[in-house]
Amino acid sequence: MEFNLEKTIRPHLVGMKSYSASRPTDDKDQFILLDANENPFGNYNRYPDAENVQLKGKLADINKIDASNLFLGNGSDELIDLLMRIFCDSEKDSIMVFNPSFVMYEIYAKMNNVAVEKLQLNSDFQLIKTEFEEALTKTKAKILFLCSPNNPTGNSIDDLEFYIQSFKGIVVVDEAYIEFSPEESAVGLLKKYPNLIVLKTLSKAYGMAGLRIGVGISSPEIASFINRFKPPYNISSESQRLALQQLQNEKEQAENIQTILSEKEKLKKGLAENKEVVKIYPSDANFFLIEFKDAEKVYQKLLDANIWTSLRHPALKNCLRLSIGKPAENLKVLNVLSEI
Ligand code: PMP
Repeated sequence: MEFNLEKTIRPHLVGMKSYSASRPTDDKDQFILLDANENPFGNYNRYPDAENVQLKGKLADINKIDASNLFLGNGSDELIDLLMRIFCDSEKDSIMVFNPSFVMYEIYAKMNNVAVEKLQLNSDFQLIKTEFEEALTKTKAKILFLCSPNNPTGNSIDDLEFYIQSFKGIVVVDEAYIEFSPEESAVGLLKKYPNLIVLKTLSKAYGMAGLRIGVGISSPEIASFINRFKPPYNISSESQRLALQQLQNEKEQAENIQTILSEKEKLKKGLAENKEVVKIYPSDANFFLIEFKDAEKVYQKLLDANIWTSLRHPALKNCLRLSIGKPAENLKVLNVLSEI
């Protein structure tokens, strides 16, 4: 596929120099560091590694890619914002999203004064190919965001490659929940599509939401451009250190995913028996979108029992989004629901 990165980036960024925060990564101790106005005293006196070398090395192994394919953000939220600021001109460009989907695409677009073109999902929360093709004939969108498994609906998008191959700008496949899903990651498509960016996160299946680490995977050309413009020290030293440490526990993480998936099945059975539930939507993620007879009432009852759920998406009437918790927590949800 033909793709010209320089023509896709906001024109004023193409030749712009960025701030370089690189330092020697080997034999650090033999250098006297007087370049960054740090305090020579204290436990956290040094800036973090701006290039995230060690963490990227481990993430490259896990994703079976090269470290040059990676760019990291303070959560993938930060990367979504950064991508818009790199590719979309305010007041001129737009992004394309489907609806309902992850709300932050739209929020960051609005913050950056970038327009949002929305494709309505059908009743199975799938894209309609003919409507997508029709939209392509008049779009001026620079980025297409494909969230699969989709938040807040939970389902995977069918035939993802069809949408990737048809769009001429940047295609972002947001795979925040892919590790819970039986579907293949789009990382395998990177060689075929030079305009593809895959976003992952350590916040969900890896259980590190508190460390705030989002993972961008793309061609080395795109990754190197984004690395040039990301905030230099966006991942703290402690986050880098702890993430690296946690990523060694591969067995424990795999077991936790299995526990979540088996809890999900139990919860689904329990919910299906509840008379307040109208529909449990198919989910490939670690949450369910559930339609209730009266979602407001259920939300309140759960809240009265100190259980927070999400009742937020404007496009979804009478629906709650419920994350899969620990076994005892899920049981409590079912007990509260059965008392309504
Ligand atoms: N993408 C999707 C689809 C999400 O659901 C979320 C978090 N809710 C994010 C991105 C952002 O994740 P984080 O910033 O924690 O990496």
